[in-house]
Amino acid sequence: MATKRKPVKAGGRKVVTRKSRKPLKRQLKRRKKMVLDIVNFGHPVLRQKGAKIEKVTPEVKQLIDSMLETMKHAHGVGLAAQQIGQALQLAVIDVRGIEDRPSTLHLDGEPADVAAFMPLILLNPEVKPVNAAVKGPEGCLSFPEIYADIERPESVDVTVMTLDGKTKSFRCGGLLSRAVQHENDHLNGILFIDRMDRNTKAELKPEIDDLQAATKKKLKK
Ligand SMILES: [Zn+2]
Repeated sequence: MATKRKPVKAGGRKVVTRKSRKPLKRQLKRRKKMVLDIVNFGHPVLRQKGAKIEKVTPEVKQLIDSMLETMKHAHGVGLAAQQIGQALQLAVIDVRGIEDRPSTLHLDGEPADVAAFMPLILLNPEVKPVNAAVKGPEGCLSFPEIYADIERPESVDVTVMTLDGKTKSFRCGGLLSRAVQHENDHLNGILFIDRMDRNTKAELKPEIDDLQAATKKKLKK
């Protein structure tokens, strides 16, 4: 999922300080992560339901690292495996850094720190709505520059597989809930354009059609 980025304020240039170099041993130990290509609407993989991940192998872990890197690079708050060309029940989410749209989190019925829960890896997620739907703005990294209000339940109960093969459950609300639902849709081949109301979709149709045509043209080459 993508959120609209705020324009950079004039004179607000970030001062970048040089990070100290990590010891070589640690560099070698780290898994290789890469920025992957994100596929756009019109690519058939976006309509495929993801295969369940039975076991978190080193390859799956490396894929997760690369997806986190790709999401960060694209300034997204969520990225599904379908969006990097793999139909799997796997998505990554990170809502840190979005300050104008709050998220809530409950673990075992108790409020919990959202930032400490990030990044969130959705492996074989099960998502159940808790309450009534609310409208909120959404974008998608596979639909560059296309944004729309989408109606979704405000809170959801979620169960996922952890990296060590166990399960964990949580309840989330606000932006995090929206991101979880958007990514969970991807894992089932559902896209946010499927959830737009008729008027919004009609309004955005020219842009959506152009994007689809451009993607199909690129695929033919
Ligand atoms: Zn998306």
